[in-house]
Amino acid sequence: EEREPVEAARPETPVKPMTATEVKVNVSIPEAAERAAATGADGVGLLRIEHMVLTLGKTPERYIAEHGARAYQDELIDGIRTVADEFYPRPVRVRTMDAPTDEFRELEGGDDEPNEHNPMLGWRGLRRSLDKPDVFEHELAAFARLYEMGYDNVEVMFPLVNDATDVRKAREHMRSAGIDPEARSWGVMIETPASALMIRELAEAGIDFASFGTNDLTQYTLAVDRNNEHVADRFDELHPAVLELIERTIETCRELDVDTSICGQAGSRTEMVDFLVEAGVSSISANIDAVRDVQHEVKRKEQRLLLDSVR
Ligand code: PEP
Ligand code: MG
Repeated sequence: EEREPVEAARPETPVKPMTATEVKVNVSIPEAAERAAATGADGVGLLRIEHMVLTLGKTPERYIAEHGARAYQDELIDGIRTVADEFYPRPVRVRTMDAPTDEFRELEGGDDEPNEHNPMLGWRGLRRSLDKPDVFEHELAAFARLYEMGYDNVEVMFPLVNDATDVRKAREHMRSAGIDPEARSWGVMIETPASALMIRELAEAGIDFASFGTNDLTQYTLAVDRNNEHVADRFDELHPAVLELIERTIETCRELDVDTSICGQAGSRTEMVDFLVEAGVSSISANIDAVRDVQHEVKRKEQRLLLDSVR
């Protein structure tokens, strides 16, 4: 009697340590979705849509003028779906547009962009989106269509907020686009000292989660331009001032039942992982290549804390 053929070898699924703190993964381009999902991560902590737009070669304004809003939405939907499919039902946090004007200026239609003296302190993130509802509404319409298609694992995340006014406006835009903010999981990035200091008000504005964008939080807390080589050695995500802002924010969020996360590069660093686990962060999102190590570091740290607590 012939034996059934052995099933073709699957790519090895990593043995994932069980941890209380979730470990997620950052995905910068949809093409990386499969590799990211294969890490066994608990979800995507950050999916940037910038790449999906910058590869169109045109500013969103120009693209919409030439191809129509529906086509723009379709592009975003295609990119997001690629990742949301790969991870379903694990959650995928998708950030609304956050390209600085100097990046838009290189695209077709970029001549219409302002030439800012300091784009990092300028017209980017949610502040630009709020000033450009004709583009923002189509981003949110893409999310609304994804929800209609059944992608209930998609979460909306707003970048570069400062205070509750920003958040309330963003929430109203979601509502106008047909997304029920009470029914969906959505949140903000904590990237400015202002947003960290205002976390109680942000929570009251209805966010479900707050995610530390430590690349920006570090640059704005220390006044160190993250793209300036002359001060690169002063860029320190573990600076006590940065850690203090993070720790206080987590404390308030725990009190108010708001989920906390990190999606900046520092989430891949051992020292930051240890610090966050001890502070009680809900999840850590790491780069694809770092997920495995972060999973094990979280496990080690959680065990050490447990041992300390019974000693
Ligand atoms: C951050 O600021 O830490 C972040 C994740 O966002 P970006 O690097 O895209 O500014
Ligand atoms: Mg940022």
